Amino acid sequence: MATAAHRWVMTAAGEPLIRQDFDPWAPGPGEVVVEVAGCGVCHTDLGYYYDGVKTQHALPLTLGHEISGRVVAAAADADRWMGRAVIVPAVIPCGRCELCERGRYVICRQQKMPGNDIQGGFASHVRVPAYGLCRIDEQRLAAAGLELADVSVVADAVTTPYQAVARSGLGEGDVVIVVGVGGVGGYAVQVAATLGAHVIAIDVEQAKLDAVARHGAAMTLDASEIEFRELKKAIRSFVEGNALRATEWFVFECSGTAAGQRTAFGLLTFGSTLCVVGFSMEKIEIRLSNLMAFDARALGNWGCEPALYPAALDLVLDGRVQLLPFVEQHPLSEINEVFEAVHAGGVTRRAILVPERTA
Ligand SMILES: [Zn+2]
Ligand SMILES: [Zn+2]
Repeated sequence: MATAAHRWVMTAAGEPLIRQDFDPWAPGPGEVVVEVAGCGVCHTDLGYYYDGVKTQHALPLTLGHEISGRVVAAAADADRWMGRAVIVPAVIPCGRCELCERGRYVICRQQKMPGNDIQGGFASHVRVPAYGLCRIDEQRLAAAGLELADVSVVADAVTTPYQAVARSGLGEGDVVIVVGVGGVGGYAVQVAATLGAHVIAIDVEQAKLDAVARHGAAMTLDASEIEFRELKKAIRSFVEGNALRATEWFVFECSGTAAGQRTAFGLLTFGSTLCVVGFSMEKIEIRLSNLMAFDARALGNWGCEPALYPAALDLVLDGRVQLLPFVEQHPLSEINEVFEAVHAGGVTRRAILVPERTA
Protein backbone atom coordinates (compact mmCIF):
# COMPACT_ATOMS: atom_id res chain seq x y z
CA MET A 1 0.00 0.00 0.00
CA ALA A 2 3.02 2.28 0.34
CA THR A 3 2.53 4.46 -2.72
CA ALA A 4 5.17 6.99 -3.77
CA ALA A 5 5.17 10.28 -1.91
CA HIS A 6 6.72 13.60 -2.79
CA ARG A 7 7.14 17.03 -1.29
CA TRP A 8 8.38 20.46 -2.33
CA VAL A 9 11.44 21.46 -0.34
CA MET A 10 12.89 24.87 0.50
CA THR A 11 16.68 24.65 0.51
CA ALA A 12 17.44 28.36 1.01
CA ALA A 13 15.39 31.56 1.17
CA GLY A 14 14.34 32.67 -2.31
CA GLU A 15 15.78 29.61 -4.07
CA PRO A 16 13.28 27.68 -6.23
CA LEU A 17 11.45 25.01 -4.24
CA ILE A 18 12.50 21.54 -5.33
CA ARG A 19 10.34 18.44 -5.75
CA GLN A 20 11.67 15.44 -3.84
CA ASP A 21 10.45 11.91 -3.34
CA PHE A 22 10.40 10.83 0.29
CA ASP A 23 9.17 8.07 2.56
CA PRO A 24 6.40 9.21 4.90
CA TRP A 25 5.42 5.70 5.99
CA ALA A 26 5.70 3.98 9.32
CA PRO A 27 4.28 6.72 11.55
CA GLY A 28 5.89 6.86 15.00
CA PRO A 29 3.95 6.55 18.27
CA GLY A 30 0.97 8.93 18.31
CA GLU A 31 1.46 9.85 14.65
CA VAL A 32 -0.58 9.57 11.47
CA VAL A 33 0.23 9.98 7.78
CA VAL A 34 -2.18 12.33 6.03
CA GLU A 35 -2.66 12.18 2.27
CA VAL A 36 -2.83 15.91 1.58
CA ALA A 37 -5.98 17.11 -0.19
CA GLY A 38 -4.93 20.76 -0.12
CA CYS A 39 -2.57 23.14 1.65
CA GLY A 40 -3.18 26.89 1.78
CA VAL A 41 -0.43 29.41 1.04
CA CYS A 42 -0.13 31.76 4.04
CA HIS A 43 1.62 35.11 4.52
CA THR A 44 3.82 33.25 7.04
CA ASP A 45 5.13 30.88 4.33
CA LEU A 46 6.11 33.90 2.25
CA GLY A 47 7.82 35.39 5.33
CA TYR A 48 10.06 32.30 5.55
CA TYR A 49 10.64 32.17 1.83
CA TYR A 50 11.14 35.84 0.92
CA ASP A 51 11.80 37.81 4.09
CA GLY A 52 14.36 35.67 5.86
CA VAL A 53 12.11 34.78 8.80
CA LYS A 54 13.79 31.69 10.29
CA THR A 55 11.99 28.36 10.52
CA GLN A 56 12.42 26.40 13.77
CA HIS A 57 13.46 23.32 11.78
CA ALA A 58 16.71 23.66 9.85
CA LEU A 59 16.54 23.80 6.05
CA PRO A 60 15.84 21.95 3.85
CA LEU A 61 12.21 22.02 4.92
CA THR A 62 8.78 21.62 3.31
CA LEU A 63 6.65 24.67 4.14
CA GLY A 64 2.85 24.71 4.52
CA HIS A 65 0.69 24.65 7.67
CA GLU A 66 -2.89 24.88 6.33
CA ILE A 67 -3.54 21.21 5.68
CA SER A 68 -6.63 19.13 5.03
CA GLY A 69 -6.59 15.54 3.85
CA ARG A 70 -7.22 11.94 4.71
CA VAL A 71 -5.45 9.71 7.22
CA VAL A 72 -3.91 6.83 5.23
CA ALA A 73 -1.64 5.36 7.90
CA ALA A 74 -1.75 5.53 11.69
CA ALA A 75 0.30 4.29 14.61
CA ALA A 76 -1.38 1.63 16.75
CA ASP A 77 -2.30 4.22 19.41
CA ALA A 78 -3.89 6.49 16.77
CA ASP A 79 -5.67 3.93 14.61
CA ARG A 80 -9.12 5.37 15.35
CA TRP A 81 -8.14 8.10 12.83
CA MET A 82 -7.56 5.64 9.99
CA GLY A 83 -9.48 6.66 6.84
CA ARG A 84 -10.85 9.86 8.38
CA ALA A 85 -10.99 13.20 6.59
CA VAL A 86 -9.21 15.71 8.81
CA ILE A 87 -7.90 19.22 9.27
CA VAL A 88 -4.41 19.37 10.75
CA PRO A 89 -4.18 22.29 13.22
CA ALA A 90 -1.55 24.86 12.23
CA VAL A 91 -0.20 24.65 15.76
CA ILE A 92 -0.27 21.18 17.35
CA PRO A 93 0.24 21.25 21.13
CA CYS A 94 1.77 18.23 22.90
CA GLY A 95 -1.29 17.82 25.14
CA ARG A 96 0.79 16.50 28.05
CA CYS A 97 3.00 19.27 29.45
CA GLU A 98 2.25 21.52 32.39
CA LEU A 99 1.10 24.35 30.09
CA CYS A 100 -1.27 22.03 28.20
CA GLU A 101 -2.58 20.71 31.51
CA ARG A 102 -3.46 24.26 32.48
CA GLY A 103 -5.24 24.80 29.17
CA ARG A 104 -2.52 27.06 27.71
CA TYR A 105 -2.29 24.90 24.59
CA VAL A 106 -1.21 27.56 22.11
CA ILE A 107 1.90 28.45 24.13
CA CYS A 108 2.92 24.80 24.65
CA ARG A 109 6.71 24.78 24.23
CA GLN A 110 6.65 21.32 22.65
CA GLN A 111 4.13 22.45 20.03
CA LYS A 112 4.63 21.37 16.45
CA MET A 113 3.78 23.63 13.54
CA PRO A 114 3.95 21.86 10.16
CA GLY A 115 6.21 23.76 7.77
CA ASN A 116 8.07 25.33 10.70
CA ASP A 117 8.88 22.79 13.44
CA ILE A 118 8.24 19.71 11.29
CA GLN A 119 7.87 18.96 7.55
CA GLY A 120 4.82 20.73 6.14
CA GLY A 121 1.94 20.27 3.78
CA PHE A 122 3.21 21.35 0.35
CA ALA A 123 3.47 17.64 -0.34
CA SER A 124 1.47 14.59 -1.37
CA HIS A 125 1.69 13.30 2.21
CA VAL A 126 2.60 14.64 5.62
CA ARG A 127 3.35 12.85 8.88
CA VAL A 128 1.92 14.65 11.92
CA PRO A 129 0.92 13.96 15.53
CA ALA A 130 -2.68 12.72 15.78
CA TYR A 131 -3.23 14.95 18.80
CA GLY A 132 -5.58 17.82 17.97
CA LEU A 133 -6.70 16.59 14.55
CA CYS A 134 -10.13 17.92 13.60
CA ARG A 135 -12.47 15.36 12.07
CA ILE A 136 -14.48 16.49 9.02
CA ASP A 137 -18.02 15.21 8.47
CA GLU A 138 -17.81 14.43 4.74
CA GLN A 139 -21.59 14.34 4.24
CA ARG A 140 -21.92 17.87 5.60
CA LEU A 141 -18.88 18.90 3.55
CA ALA A 142 -20.53 17.68 0.34
CA ALA A 143 -23.87 19.22 1.34
CA ALA A 144 -22.08 22.56 1.76
CA GLY A 145 -20.72 22.25 -1.79
CA LEU A 146 -17.14 22.08 -0.55
CA GLU A 147 -14.22 19.84 -1.44
CA LEU A 148 -11.81 18.49 1.14
CA ALA A 149 -9.08 20.76 -0.28
CA ASP A 150 -11.21 23.88 0.28
CA VAL A 151 -11.37 23.44 4.06
CA SER A 152 -7.56 23.41 4.34
CA VAL A 153 -7.82 27.14 5.06
CA VAL A 154 -9.77 26.34 8.24
CA ALA A 155 -6.42 25.15 9.67
CA ASP A 156 -5.20 28.73 10.03
CA ALA A 157 -6.96 31.47 8.04
CA VAL A 158 -10.34 30.70 9.66
CA THR A 159 -9.38 29.35 13.09
CA THR A 160 -6.76 31.98 13.95
CA PRO A 161 -9.22 34.89 13.75
CA TYR A 162 -11.88 32.58 15.26
CA GLN A 163 -9.79 32.23 18.42
CA ALA A 164 -9.03 35.98 18.44
CA VAL A 165 -12.76 36.78 18.19
CA ALA A 166 -13.67 34.19 20.83
CA ARG A 167 -11.07 35.57 23.26
CA SER A 168 -12.07 39.17 22.71
CA GLY A 169 -15.51 38.45 24.15
CA LEU A 170 -17.28 40.54 21.53
CA GLY A 171 -20.96 39.96 21.02
CA GLU A 172 -24.20 41.13 19.50
CA GLY A 173 -24.37 44.85 18.75
CA ASP A 174 -20.67 45.52 19.29
CA VAL A 175 -18.64 47.69 16.94
CA VAL A 176 -15.82 45.70 15.35
CA ILE A 177 -13.12 47.14 13.11
CA VAL A 178 -10.96 44.78 11.06
CA VAL A 179 -7.77 46.25 9.57
CA GLY A 180 -6.58 44.15 6.63
CA VAL A 181 -9.24 41.89 5.12
CA GLY A 182 -7.10 39.48 3.13
CA GLY A 183 -6.66 35.76 3.81
CA VAL A 184 -7.13 36.02 7.59
CA GLY A 185 -8.95 39.32 8.16
CA GLY A 186 -11.75 38.43 5.76
CA TYR A 187 -12.69 35.56 8.08
CA ALA A 188 -12.41 37.83 11.13
CA VAL A 189 -15.11 39.93 9.45
CA GLN A 190 -17.33 36.92 8.78
CA VAL A 191 -16.89 35.32 12.22
CA ALA A 192 -17.61 38.61 14.04
CA ALA A 193 -20.68 39.14 11.85
CA THR A 194 -22.06 35.70 12.79
CA LEU A 195 -22.05 36.90 16.40
CA GLY A 196 -24.18 39.91 15.51
CA ALA A 197 -21.44 42.53 15.57
CA HIS A 198 -21.42 45.57 13.28
CA VAL A 199 -18.22 45.12 11.30
CA ILE A 200 -16.21 47.87 9.63
CA ALA A 201 -13.53 46.65 7.22
CA ILE A 202 -10.40 48.60 6.29
CA ASP A 203 -7.94 47.64 3.56
CA VAL A 204 -5.87 49.22 0.80
CA GLU A 205 -7.28 46.97 -1.93
CA GLN A 206 -10.76 47.70 -3.22
CA ALA A 207 -11.27 44.12 -4.49
CA LYS A 208 -10.84 42.72 -0.97
CA LEU A 209 -13.21 45.34 0.44
CA ASP A 210 -15.82 44.52 -2.21
CA ALA A 211 -15.57 40.82 -1.29
CA VAL A 212 -16.16 41.39 2.45
CA ALA A 213 -18.93 43.89 1.72
CA ARG A 214 -20.86 40.92 0.34
CA HIS A 215 -19.94 38.75 3.35
CA GLY A 216 -20.42 40.43 6.68
CA ALA A 217 -18.96 43.94 6.51
CA ALA A 218 -21.48 46.72 7.20
CA MET A 219 -19.02 49.41 6.07
CA THR A 220 -15.78 49.34 4.08
CA LEU A 221 -13.02 51.93 3.93
CA ASP A 222 -10.11 52.11 1.48
CA ALA A 223 -7.19 53.39 3.57
CA SER A 224 -5.15 54.12 0.45
CA GLU A 225 -7.71 56.74 -0.56
CA ILE A 226 -8.08 58.77 2.64
CA GLU A 227 -6.00 60.22 5.47
CA PHE A 228 -6.22 58.60 8.89
CA ARG A 229 -8.16 61.57 10.33
CA GLU A 230 -10.80 61.23 7.63
CA LEU A 231 -10.94 57.50 8.17
CA LYS A 232 -11.62 57.93 11.88
CA LYS A 233 -14.21 60.61 11.14
CA ALA A 234 -15.99 58.32 8.69
CA ILE A 235 -16.14 55.57 11.31
CA ARG A 236 -17.44 57.99 13.95
CA SER A 237 -20.23 59.21 11.69
CA PHE A 238 -21.15 55.63 10.70
CA VAL A 239 -21.36 54.72 14.38
CA GLU A 240 -23.39 57.81 15.19
CA GLY A 241 -25.67 57.46 12.17
CA ASN A 242 -26.53 53.90 13.14
CA ALA A 243 -26.88 54.65 16.85
CA LEU A 244 -24.03 52.26 17.69
CA ARG A 245 -21.72 52.36 20.69
CA ALA A 246 -19.16 55.20 20.65
CA THR A 247 -16.93 53.34 23.13
CA GLU A 248 -15.55 49.80 23.57
CA TRP A 249 -14.69 49.20 19.92
CA PHE A 250 -13.01 45.89 19.11
CA VAL A 251 -10.10 46.46 16.71
CA PHE A 252 -8.51 43.48 14.91
CA GLU A 253 -5.12 44.10 13.28
CA CYS A 254 -4.94 41.46 10.55
CA SER A 255 -2.83 43.23 7.91
CA GLY A 256 0.57 42.36 9.36
CA THR A 257 1.91 45.71 8.15
CA ALA A 258 3.31 48.72 9.98
CA ALA A 259 0.72 50.99 8.36
CA GLY A 260 -2.11 48.70 9.42
CA GLN A 261 -0.77 48.53 12.97
CA ARG A 262 -0.64 52.33 13.18
CA THR A 263 -4.22 52.54 11.95
CA ALA A 264 -5.43 49.88 14.38
CA PHE A 265 -3.73 51.49 17.39
CA GLY A 266 -4.99 54.91 16.36
CA LEU A 267 -8.59 53.69 16.34
CA LEU A 268 -8.59 52.66 20.00
CA THR A 269 -11.06 54.50 22.16
CA PHE A 270 -12.45 54.19 25.69
CA GLY A 271 -12.75 50.57 26.76
CA SER A 272 -11.42 49.28 23.44
CA THR A 273 -9.89 45.89 22.82
CA LEU A 274 -6.99 45.61 20.37
CA CYS A 275 -6.41 42.11 18.96
CA VAL A 276 -3.11 41.64 17.16
CA VAL A 277 -3.63 38.83 14.66
CA GLY A 278 -1.28 39.79 11.81
CA PHE A 279 2.50 39.47 12.01
CA SER A 280 5.19 41.87 10.84
CA MET A 281 8.92 42.20 11.52
CA GLU A 282 8.54 45.97 11.26
CA LYS A 283 8.37 48.25 14.32
CA ILE A 284 6.07 51.20 14.89
CA GLU A 285 6.11 54.04 17.37
CA ILE A 286 3.04 54.22 19.60
CA ARG A 287 2.00 55.97 22.80
CA LEU A 288 1.47 52.89 24.96
CA SER A 289 -0.17 55.07 27.62
CA ASN A 290 -3.23 55.31 25.38
CA LEU A 291 -4.11 51.87 26.73
CA MET A 292 -3.96 53.31 30.23
CA ALA A 293 -5.89 56.49 29.44
CA PHE A 294 -8.59 54.63 27.50
CA ASP A 295 -8.77 51.77 30.01
CA ALA A 296 -8.18 49.68 26.90
CA ARG A 297 -6.52 46.30 26.49
CA ALA A 298 -4.33 44.65 23.88
CA LEU A 299 -4.37 40.91 23.17
CA GLY A 300 -1.98 38.80 21.14
CA ASN A 301 -3.06 35.66 19.34
CA TRP A 302 -0.98 32.69 18.24
CA GLY A 303 -2.80 30.06 16.21
CA CYS A 304 -5.90 28.45 17.69
CA GLU A 305 -6.29 25.72 20.26
CA PRO A 306 -7.54 22.43 18.79
CA ALA A 307 -10.64 22.40 21.02
CA LEU A 308 -12.03 25.39 19.08
CA TYR A 309 -11.62 23.82 15.62
CA PRO A 310 -14.93 21.91 15.51
CA ALA A 311 -16.94 25.08 16.26
CA ALA A 312 -15.03 27.06 13.62
CA LEU A 313 -15.55 24.25 11.09
CA ASP A 314 -19.27 24.19 11.98
CA LEU A 315 -19.60 27.83 10.88
CA VAL A 316 -18.13 26.82 7.50
CA LEU A 317 -20.23 23.67 7.08
CA ASP A 318 -23.39 25.58 8.07
CA GLY A 319 -22.60 28.18 5.40
CA ARG A 320 -22.42 30.98 7.97
CA VAL A 321 -18.78 31.54 7.02
CA GLN A 322 -18.22 31.36 3.27
CA LEU A 323 -14.97 29.95 1.88
CA LEU A 324 -15.46 29.68 -1.88
CA PRO A 325 -15.43 33.42 -2.70
CA PHE A 326 -12.09 33.67 -0.89
CA VAL A 327 -10.09 30.67 -2.11
CA GLU A 328 -8.71 29.33 -5.38
CA GLN A 329 -7.07 26.00 -6.11
CA HIS A 330 -3.79 25.54 -7.98
CA PRO A 331 -1.79 22.40 -8.79
CA LEU A 332 0.98 21.79 -6.25
CA SER A 333 3.41 21.36 -9.17
CA GLU A 334 3.02 25.11 -9.83
CA ILE A 335 4.13 26.04 -6.31
CA ASN A 336 7.01 28.26 -7.43
CA GLU A 337 4.80 30.25 -9.80
CA VAL A 338 2.04 30.52 -7.19
CA PHE A 339 4.44 31.77 -4.49
CA GLU A 340 5.69 34.42 -6.91
CA ALA A 341 2.19 35.50 -7.89
CA VAL A 342 1.01 35.70 -4.27
CA HIS A 343 4.14 37.63 -3.28
CA ALA A 344 3.65 40.06 -6.15
CA GLY A 345 0.08 40.68 -4.97
CA GLY A 346 -1.42 39.13 -8.10
CA VAL A 347 -3.63 36.70 -6.16
CA THR A 348 -6.39 38.30 -4.09
CA ARG A 349 -7.91 35.01 -2.92
CA ARG A 350 -6.20 32.44 -0.71
CA ALA A 351 -4.25 30.05 -2.96
CA ILE A 352 -4.69 26.37 -2.08
CA LEU A 353 -2.11 23.99 -3.54
CA VAL A 354 -3.56 20.63 -4.53
CA PRO A 355 -1.26 17.64 -5.12
CA GLU A 356 -1.71 15.75 -8.38
CA ARG A 357 -2.92 12.22 -7.80
CA THR A 358 -1.32 9.62 -10.03
CA ALA A 359 -2.63 6.11 -9.42
ZN1 LIG B 1 -0.51 30.87 8.49
ZN1 LIG C 1 2.18 20.92 25.78
